[in-house]
Amino acid sequence: MEKKNIDWSNLGFTYMKTDYRYVSNYKDGAWDEGAMITDDTVAINECAGVLQYAQTVFEGLKAYTTEDGRIVTFRPDLNGERMENSARRLEMPVFSKERFIKAVIETVKANAAYVPPYGSGATLYIRPYMFGSNPVIGVKPADEYQFRVFTTPVGPYFKGGVKPLTIRVSDFDRAAPNGTGHIKAGLNYAMSLHAIVDAHSQGFDENMYLDPGTRTKVEETGGANFLFVTKDNTVVTPKSSSILPSITRRSLIYVAEHYLGLKVEEREVLLEEVKDFAECGLCGTAAVISPVGKIVDHGKEIVLPAGMEQMGPVTQKLYDTLTGIQMGRLEAPEGWIQVIE
Ligand SMILES: *Cc1c(COP(=O)(O)O)cnc(C)c1O
Repeated sequence: MEKKNIDWSNLGFTYMKTDYRYVSNYKDGAWDEGAMITDDTVAINECAGVLQYAQTVFEGLKAYTTEDGRIVTFRPDLNGERMENSARRLEMPVFSKERFIKAVIETVKANAAYVPPYGSGATLYIRPYMFGSNPVIGVKPADEYQFRVFTTPVGPYFKGGVKPLTIRVSDFDRAAPNGTGHIKAGLNYAMSLHAIVDAHSQGFDENMYLDPGTRTKVEETGGANFLFVTKDNTVVTPKSSSILPSITRRSLIYVAEHYLGLKVEEREVLLEEVKDFAECGLCGTAAVISPVGKIVDHGKEIVLPAGMEQMGPVTQKLYDTLTGIQMGRLEAPEGWIQVIE
């Protein structure tokens, strides 16, 4: 298969149309068999549930080329499982994890010419999503849905080197204690847009959201979970029912324990104790880990000892080990690497 003529290492995180996408429709209580199509547009009624009441959930994962030239994805079963849970919470029909994995594999295979080569740092981003497609005007779940998967090649996250982030403690909240923070729903992102635009306009890269109930505990940012490292090298990650369960964070915790022999704690993290940590990072599919150099709490600056020039030593080890596993340079735990071709 011949690769497309793309300047892989200069791609950003933007949408580029690829050749094929997967579509399956839900009607009369059942999903159809699904198909690969070439049309990149969606035609739905003006009153579709997704347009009126934001009934939509999504996932994000990557396909990439390993050192030995295979095209693979990383733990798509967990994305499938998470999408099942997201759908249930928004009263949408479940598109099974098994079919989800098949749809992801088929879509990547069809767009193999867009999977960046090993060493470019670029990847093929995969976006599965689902939305209510029939007219809904009284507030209730839609009766018909569409599940789609498209792909788009994206560039290396740390183009021009790693730059630790400066984040602020946000006065806006991301997720209510018994709300929808733990599912991957578009609505969580819509309501975060004002906070992130405001943060950027004030010179911050991201928002650190606190628990809205007490505003004393660290939750996460708009799209990534926190990992902290204590001065004696214990990896600490916040525990809360309103945090989105990041697959990257869960994988990094496993790597910390089983590959690096580090102690791991998943527990409530007080804003008050953040100043005592040695390292801080944000975990998600896009970057694996982005180091945080500085946290600003209403004018009070916390500069992490790892500083503003590089990743802290433990963060770096976690990053190197997980990306080593993903790229096939290190042996992966059973079931983590899904080979596509
Ligand atoms: C997607 C997402 C993450 C990261 O999850 P990964 O599975 O690691 O990509 C973290 N926080 C939020 C709010 C998210 O939507």
